[in-house]
Amino acid sequence: MELTVRAPAKINLHLGVGAPREDGYHPLVTVYQAVGLYDDVTARQASDWALGVSVPDWMDAAAVPTSGDNIVDRVADLLAAHHGIERTGEVHIAKAIPVAGGMAGGSADAAAALVALDRLWAVRTPDDDLLALAAQLGSDVPFALLGGTALGTGRGELVEPVDDRGTWWWVVVPADVGLSTPEVYRHFDRMFPDAPSEPVPADALLQAIAEGDAWALADALHNDLEAAAIDLRPELGALIEAGEEAGALRGLVSGSGPTCVFLCGSADHARSLAGDLASTGHPVVLAANGPVAGAHLVSYA
Ligand code: ATP
Repeated sequence: MELTVRAPAKINLHLGVGAPREDGYHPLVTVYQAVGLYDDVTARQASDWALGVSVPDWMDAAAVPTSGDNIVDRVADLLAAHHGIERTGEVHIAKAIPVAGGMAGGSADAAAALVALDRLWAVRTPDDDLLALAAQLGSDVPFALLGGTALGTGRGELVEPVDDRGTWWWVVVPADVGLSTPEVYRHFDRMFPDAPSEPVPADALLQAIAEGDAWALADALHNDLEAAAIDLRPELGALIEAGEEAGALRGLVSGSGPTCVFLCGSADHARSLAGDLASTGHPVVLAANGPVAGAHLVSYA
């Protein structure tokens, strides 16, 4: 048996970050959107465990761990322990989501692997258990299972779908070198020692997407980590300015960065903005729409 599960990248339309909790995590109020940029996880039966990774030309293969500390190794250990079985399988990750880019690529792989190994091992894990295992693997993993557009609370792991009337078009500009999410949070703590304990709510944003109003969405996009990411990588500020000057409705750092996303008014607008940004020296510029489905089976043989 061989099967492939596809899982999407996320962007945070709203990312409100509060002061660290006692357990060290930051409380979040976030609105995730799954966008059409995917990693594929293929799993086939084998007598032991093997993991391989392939990346597109523009991505640094060395940035993805393959010697036992890939998040997919942890998924296999956790799901196998949950069912009291041995982990087996030959698993391949085909990456397209920027690594350490603030788009939850590792979390997408974890969600895809949960769904793929659940099928491969025929263990039929109930949805609630899958979501609980996902939350143990990382704050963004439950959303990668769910997809669509969703409100995330807690440390981001408590997700509920929200009303989204739009099909939104984004231009996505990854950076050559990733940013570590913990490093960006530490920098946020240094820059904002008086951050409120309750994160900024997402009301304006939720209203904009429920109404499907692109200009209202452009106005309401919000990322509390943006200042920290730009302080660590000042060129991101210049990139956002360039994208907005070239006609984006709004540019924003994606999550903890350094990937930047630009809201466009239509697919044609996104294609033309992507062309403009590519011609100003950004080697990789992608266009993606959202919301799209969470981790889902795309082939089975
Ligand atoms: P988030 O937005 O969820 O914080 P991110 O998109 O910034 O995440 P990831 O691409 O998930 O970052 O990678 C973070 C780190 O996780 C990488 O630097 C890498 O060392 C490690 N990692 C483990 N497994 C994977 C994987 N399958 N794909 C990418 N990175 C992985």
